[in-house]
Amino acid sequence: MPSILIKNGRIIDPSQGVDRVMNLLILDGKIAGYDVPPNGQDRIIDATNKIVSPGLIDMHVHLREPGREEDETIATGTAAALAGGFTSIACMPNTEPPIDSQASVEFIQHQAARADNCNVYVVACVSKNREGKELAELGQLAKAGAVGFTDDGAPVYDPELMRRAFEYAIMFDKPIINHAEVRELTRGGGMHEGLVSMLLGLPGMPGAAEDVMVSRDILLAEATGSRLHVQHVSSKGSVEIIRRAKLRDVRVTTEICPHHFTLTDECLRSFDSNYKMSPPLRSRRDVEVCLGGLADGTIDVICTDHAPHSPEKKMRELDQAPFGILGLETCLGLVVTKLIEPGILDWPTALAKMTINPAQILGIAKGTLALGADADVTIIDPNGNWTVDPLRFKSKSVNTPFTGWNLRGRADTVIVGGRVKFEVANSN
Ligand SMILES: [Zn+2]
Ligand SMILES: [Zn+2]
Repeated sequence: MPSILIKNGRIIDPSQGVDRVMNLLILDGKIAGYDVPPNGQDRIIDATNKIVSPGLIDMHVHLREPGREEDETIATGTAAALAGGFTSIACMPNTEPPIDSQASVEFIQHQAARADNCNVYVVACVSKNREGKELAELGQLAKAGAVGFTDDGAPVYDPELMRRAFEYAIMFDKPIINHAEVRELTRGGGMHEGLVSMLLGLPGMPGAAEDVMVSRDILLAEATGSRLHVQHVSSKGSVEIIRRAKLRDVRVTTEICPHHFTLTDECLRSFDSNYKMSPPLRSRRDVEVCLGGLADGTIDVICTDHAPHSPEKKMRELDQAPFGILGLETCLGLVVTKLIEPGILDWPTALAKMTINPAQILGIAKGTLALGADADVTIIDPNGNWTVDPLRFKSKSVNTPFTGWNLRGRADTVIVGGRVKFEVANSN
């Protein structure tokens, strides 16, 4: 494998508290040294004025394969991940059929190896066939490589099933990852319940639908001593509930998606289904509380909930269109433009939420530039301005609400296991 020297970059590695300009050497697919001078390496990458980060990790991605290859495949989804700066992603199990068996975990691993883009970790089902009735074989799934369990797309509804999932997961030290939504409270809704839904006359999904289930899950995690990861937090209530739970040392972590800290329910005035997701875009006040949660560490992770839907599906009327939007190729630009540039997060804090924090939650040896670690590296151009054009996306779908947005910050070079897998100069 060719040796690579990344020179003069600002290396930010939150896992080691490192933030300084220096050279980084990659040998045999591993991080091999700092401050090494250029000395006959096979490739020298000039990272002057760029940021050199541990490879970014997105712990919430829907790859759609198997079953919905018209929306995305493992090959196209992982290509989109690379273009967005991600070297590792964790995929959700709500495929058709769902990822609830050892064989289905192995299928994903096989397809990911064949695509040979970024690393793919599998989050497997909590319940058999995602039906919420019977526990899946969590032990077998963990053995096959599952890094966590969720029925995402839907919550684990039955509290007894949830309690037993916690009790089993603790044996393998895996998190139970839940989509928090009380369905009786959101039934028929397509947007956040509030002033805007009232003005538009559309049925709403109240913040309480999220808050109630986050509370339940926290109490069950506390009672069992197990680990809970709350998916795509969006309501002010759930941020506050999680903050309080952390203060009393409940083992709870959470994540947020860029759309939930950049957009509000006001966007639905356009009736554009690219603003329809679950949980929904919420009020300005909810967004402010989420930003506070990002800043004070209540929210551990930034992820995308990348949810491709083919145009035929997403172009339906708002009430008929499916929930969800793309995320992989706009995430980094939104983080830089909406969190770092305005001073809400500094670079090390933002990168921790996209590297070491998700790695620790999933228990994977990633998200670090420590000596000897796998050479997964994302070189970021923090000043690179670009305009979002979904026709240039690597994803198979185009469902984004950010078309035409001018963003600052993008992945410049992405290295996975010591091999250069993406270069912005060669993309298009
Ligand atoms: Zn979800
Ligand atoms: Zn999801």
